Amino acid sequence: MVTTVVFDADETLVDLRPAVTGGLIAVLEEMGRLNPAARISLADLESDWHLALGANAAAPVWEIRKAALARSLDRAGLGAHLDEISALFFARRFALTRPFADTLPALAALRQRWTLGFATNGNSRAERCGLVGEFAFAVYAHCDGVPKKPAPDFYAAVCAAAGADPAQVVHVGDNPAHDVVGAQRAGLRAVWLNRRGERLPADVVPDAVVTTMTELPSVLADLSGEADLPPFIRRCSGGTSSIDV
Ligand SMILES: [Mg+2]
Repeated sequence: MVTTVVFDADETLVDLRPAVTGGLIAVLEEMGRLNPAARISLADLESDWHLALGANAAAPVWEIRKAALARSLDRAGLGAHLDEISALFFARRFALTRPFADTLPALAALRQRWTLGFATNGNSRAERCGLVGEFAFAVYAHCDGVPKKPAPDFYAAVCAAAGADPAQVVHVGDNPAHDVVGAQRAGLRAVWLNRRGERLPADVVPDAVVTTMTELPSVLADLSGEADLPPFIRRCSGGTSSIDV
């Protein structure tokens, strides 16, 4: 029986791209003020992110972001401003971070039936992304020795926080390797949230696929085996979940 549903943060619950872009635009504006001769573009900043990520993908994401900004500032002779520019980026990034429109209604429905958790590799703390009070527990990579997804120990930490066996936990996320393969290898079931109509690698087989959070109550009922029960029994055993109406 499924007791717990755990969610990835970025691009699953949280619309990260506008927030990161807004943070980078703030950085560009400040770089232009500090050095009007600098000719750095948004594409340069994004390129530096990918270079920094490739150089040290296992590092905490905030470290990767800071390393990326250091590369960009060095392009403009502004390396001495790294700390203040990093603070500017993160302030703007978090100020702009919002849940997707379907996130909060779906969480409210799912909470009627399942324990909900939050589990991320990234910088998106629930309380800084419009998700305060939404989860029974949260697991963050690089906190308390937890490695990044897709490491099995990340998902072991999720199950420990949930107080559940892996077979009782469903993980929902957008990243096939991290959120689907990683979770399944640790014994959890995995739902792939494909918001952008992307193609799934042929060797990745999620337990279910959804394109919106709105689909989750019925999909999770299926994974719990409840869909095979008559509606009356589902109502009596399942409380007030939206799967019943
Ligand atoms: Mg994600």
